[in-house]
Amino acid sequence: MSGLIVSLFWLLLFVGGGIFLAYQRVDLRMSTVAAGAALLAYTMLGDGSWLWLLVLWLLFGVMVIPNLIDVRREKITRPLLAVYRKMLPSMSDTEREALEAGNVGWDGELFSGMPNWDRLMSFPAPKLSEEEQAFLDGPCEELCRMIDDWEICHELADMPKPVWDYIIEQKFFAMIIPKQYGGLEFSAYATAMVLSKVGSRSATVGSTIGVPNSLGPAELLLHYGTDEQKQRYLPGLADGSEIPCFALTSPQAGSDAASLIDSGVVCKGTWNGKTVTGIRLNWDKRYITLAPVATVLGLAFKLYDPDHLIGDEDEYGITAALIPTDTAGVEIGRRHYPLTIAFQNGPTSGKDVFVPLDYIIGGQEMAGKGWKMLVELLSVGRAISLPASSCGGSQAAVYASGAYTSIRKQFNMPIANFEGVGDALTRIAGHTYIVNAALSVTAGAIDQGEKPAVPSAILKYHCTELGRKVANDAMDIHGGKAVMMGPKNYLGRGYMATPIAITVEGANILTRSLIIYGQGAIRCHPFVLRELHAAGDEDQDRGLIEFDDALFGHIGYAISNMARSFFLALTHAKFSRVPLNTPTRRYYQNINRYSAAFALASDFAMLTLGGDLKRRELLSARLGDILSSMYLASCTLKHFENQGRRAADLPLVEWSVRTLMYQAQEALHAFLINFPNRWVAGLLRVFIFPRGRSYSPPSDELGGRVVELVTTPGEARDRLSEIAYTTLEPGNPLGQLQEALELSKEYQPLEKRLRQARKEGLIHSDYIGLQIGEAEKAQVISKAEANNLRDYHDKVTDLLAVDDFAAGDLMRTRPGQETGDSTASVAPKKTSTGAGKSKKKTRRKKASKKKTSKA
Ligand SMILES: Cc1cc2nc3c(=O)[nH]c(=O)nc-3n(C[C@H](O)[C@H](O)[C@H](O)COP(=O)(O)OP(=O)(O)OC[C@H]3O[C@@H](n4cnc5c(N)ncnc54)[C@H](O)[C@@H]3O)c2cc1C
Repeated sequence: MSGLIVSLFWLLLFVGGGIFLAYQRVDLRMSTVAAGAALLAYTMLGDGSWLWLLVLWLLFGVMVIPNLIDVRREKITRPLLAVYRKMLPSMSDTEREALEAGNVGWDGELFSGMPNWDRLMSFPAPKLSEEEQAFLDGPCEELCRMIDDWEICHELADMPKPVWDYIIEQKFFAMIIPKQYGGLEFSAYATAMVLSKVGSRSATVGSTIGVPNSLGPAELLLHYGTDEQKQRYLPGLADGSEIPCFALTSPQAGSDAASLIDSGVVCKGTWNGKTVTGIRLNWDKRYITLAPVATVLGLAFKLYDPDHLIGDEDEYGITAALIPTDTAGVEIGRRHYPLTIAFQNGPTSGKDVFVPLDYIIGGQEMAGKGWKMLVELLSVGRAISLPASSCGGSQAAVYASGAYTSIRKQFNMPIANFEGVGDALTRIAGHTYIVNAALSVTAGAIDQGEKPAVPSAILKYHCTELGRKVANDAMDIHGGKAVMMGPKNYLGRGYMATPIAITVEGANILTRSLIIYGQGAIRCHPFVLRELHAAGDEDQDRGLIEFDDALFGHIGYAISNMARSFFLALTHAKFSRVPLNTPTRRYYQNINRYSAAFALASDFAMLTLGGDLKRRELLSARLGDILSSMYLASCTLKHFENQGRRAADLPLVEWSVRTLMYQAQEALHAFLINFPNRWVAGLLRVFIFPRGRSYSPPSDELGGRVVELVTTPGEARDRLSEIAYTTLEPGNPLGQLQEALELSKEYQPLEKRLRQARKEGLIHSDYIGLQIGEAEKAQVISKAEANNLRDYHDKVTDLLAVDDFAAGDLMRTRPGQETGDSTASVAPKKTSTGAGKSKKKTRRKKASKKKTSKA
């Protein structure tokens, strides 16, 4: 018996010790020393046979070899490097540029299998400066007050002139432009908050403001423009005399934007009466936001130099230039009509348009660098404007839905009391919390200098998807109220707008399938990019040294992730390190566990599938989903801390993180089920799910607490929708719904008395309007109480009402039909807008120094 115990002790020492060293990522040298010491002790004190000892010492010998660096490099790494070079998947320049864009931050920690939480927690909570706060409370509130979305989308198909003028006057288009050029120079966080607030009121106005503040001429000029170009355009872009747009998409090149066929050929031509070297441009673009009213067109095209006028190359690749839209040959002005959302969007084309070389953004030396510029800027921009529009829309939807379901009664009860409705309300609230958290934490990180390429793609995809889910659920629980279009419908238009955010800046299916993990796997992995660079190093000796270092780091990392994944799954991560000992500590541990499991699965996928992983989009997408769930869950936890760890918000945090981590578990499960190599899948399952899929989704009880939170006036409900435009005033349904919600709580006792009186036969009517009169007469309630109740019920009736129209009111003419003018768009009077005016003004100004061009 004692012999068995002794053997068990030694077994535990070796296996447990091994797991411990791997779990803690102790380096190879120290691990070898520890193994040697244990083996020596076993040889001297243990009960092993000589044969057994021989096997163990031989194994130890194998472990010693990698410590002999020179031997290891020559005998192991060199042959492996030769094989690796042959296996390397081909990579186009555009792919390489996309991979190298931005930097790696918290996403890299999640990829490591052992996230260092201090890195995330050390980021300060994002804050608005006094000036930014004043802008939100002043011009931004005022703009929201001016907006009548029905007028914009249905009556004018454009923003009315006072709204255009106000936007330009208050520099809403110039939030990212530095003060030295006349802009507002807001932080990323402030820009996100302004866009969210406006987005909570109108998708049209939000999109109109979003474009000049995201990827467009201003952003491109700021990062890559020459001083002269900055001086020429930025002041005009700041004061609104220049309206920008950026044209990349063309009929042939949508998602595969780099395949564009729009061209620029370097040639001699006449410019302002002189012969100069310039570019002859031909393009045909579509879907371009602000194009119909733009005065300056950012254009992406492929640059060719067949006569070698600027260098030795025939083809330079994608190049970006700024073209004033009054240049001869530029066609602009027609409009698309994106799902009835009336922001200016349309096609543009140009035939043999000749411009000088210095129209290239950054000048001639930036010829061919257009793609790099775009992906660099997307690494930041994608995290702000579209997520902000989802944030604003979701905040408005949750605020409205919590109140609406409390005042709308069916079966004599507020519909919020029905579990089915509560389920949808819970999702609306939880998803909104996740979007709020992701936007705020990521914008805060950008303000700290991060350029989060992979998180930007995560935010673009998930915030817009969650925004769509919120809109769907809000539509469902509003029933016919949200279906009947008209000025009283505050949801339908936002719901229609959700596919727009899903489609632009990289359509979502593509973003999920190719970008999040496709970029993340190489970009965020601690060793893969180093291995790739080393393998491609022209200096063979340097490449070997670097590859050797990365390879053995990688092997240690993979062994560690096996140990960590197994141990954390076995123990439900109960002993793993957390940054804070708070009620949310278990969620940090859950993320630790999935981080290790993800890193392990990811490594095996890359090892066994190699370049094929790029084509196995669904596997890649599922790995991307796991990374995204962890990223969003960490943002949720950090946001909770940033907001002062308010106990009232805990149900939201718990629901959100639990939902996300449950999704991570299910995505891992689906990944393993579909993994082509069944042996590897089986092995991975042992290390990832040794106790099966034990993580459960949020309980109904937790959902019930979330419903309570969003249907009760109070700090948690307010905080969840803190940026939405909720001011109480005529024409703002959010303010009115909140007022009705508060009154519904206040008058609950009176309504109870009415119900009791009805039971006792003191009042008889089924209709609340009549019941109030009867109750007053029967002295169940006082005159003042009756008046209050009447007033409240009038308000509720008004909020529940929908619009109806005379048949003729709904008729619309076809574009051009009324006027016979084939260029007339659905927008009745484009020139009536401030933008149209600005454009005219600018054109007038420019006409005096009219350019004549001939290629
Ligand atoms: C309202 C609006 C405003 C816009 N504003 C601008 C603008 O200002 N400037 C500009 O240049 N462009 C703009 N765009 C264009 C936008 O960026 C493109 O619509 C987008 O890139 C998708 O291209 P596409 O519509 O041609 O879809 P397609 O490329 O035809 O894609 C169709 C579907 O196939 C999927 N898909 C394609 N390839 C893959 C793949 N390899 N793997 C998985 N899925 C794939 C896509 O995700 C999508 O779901 C705008 C578009 C809209 C709708």
